[in-house]
Amino acid sequence: MNEQAHYTTATTTLEFRRNLAVVQDRIAGAAIRVGRSPGDVRLLPVSKTVESSRLRLAIEAGCTDLGENKVQEALRKSVELADVPEVRWHVIGHLQSNKAKFVAKFAHEFQALDRLSLARTLNNRLEVADRTLQVMVQINTSGEDSKFGLPPQEAEAFIQELPAFERLHITGLMTLAINSPDESRVRACFQSLHKLRRQLSENAPSGVELTELSMGMSGDFELAVEEGATVVRVGQAIFGPRALPDSYYWPVGDKMR
Ligand SMILES: *Cc1c(COP(=O)(O)O)cnc(C)c1O
Repeated sequence: MNEQAHYTTATTTLEFRRNLAVVQDRIAGAAIRVGRSPGDVRLLPVSKTVESSRLRLAIEAGCTDLGENKVQEALRKSVELADVPEVRWHVIGHLQSNKAKFVAKFAHEFQALDRLSLARTLNNRLEVADRTLQVMVQINTSGEDSKFGLPPQEAEAFIQELPAFERLHITGLMTLAINSPDESRVRACFQSLHKLRRQLSENAPSGVELTELSMGMSGDFELAVEEGATVVRVGQAIFGPRALPDSYYWPVGDKMR
């Protein structure tokens, strides 16, 4: 799963186009292998740690939706790139409630909803800002302590509560697979998210749509597409390798709630 060695850093618009084309081809290949239409899978470029100057080149190459793990970094970039109004910001990482007010201000989507108190805070802040937000519920499919998200068995009761938050448009489920060289364990995480969506759809309250499955990143997005992903979140395969280890984004053993 560790393909770090193959990631190349794009520093021109042409190089971004090239990296994007390679990723899109791999998505299409995976989709076709399992009889899906490549157009049913959306690529969300993940731009964490990439500075705004380089983001301008990526945007020129077509990356107008950008995923960011940390809200303050995303907010700073949204200000720096305020002259490019077509960019939509997707916050994909764990959110502390005291930062909900920032998300309510500038984000198009939030993929990591995992508790009702946060839904309430976001909804209140969105009302003040007179905005709405696309939202996915994050599920912990790996059972790892270090991963955020609801345990699958708590998801059904959780989504029953969500129609109360009128500013949140619930669109689906998101997960991070286990980080393992064993492909079957990674695939099992994606299968479990897909299965959960099927189960939840049967009793989903009205207003709660569960069409999206956001799963797969640079090291495992083809498996995710084979298992039904509708959104893949890809950073390093587009932007190049990151200097910081993943544990910086998913603190091990400390969930910082
Ligand atoms: C960073 C990140 C990704 C993308 O990871 P890459 O290895 O850069 O593709 C996907 N999802 C989340 C939640 C992330 O924080």
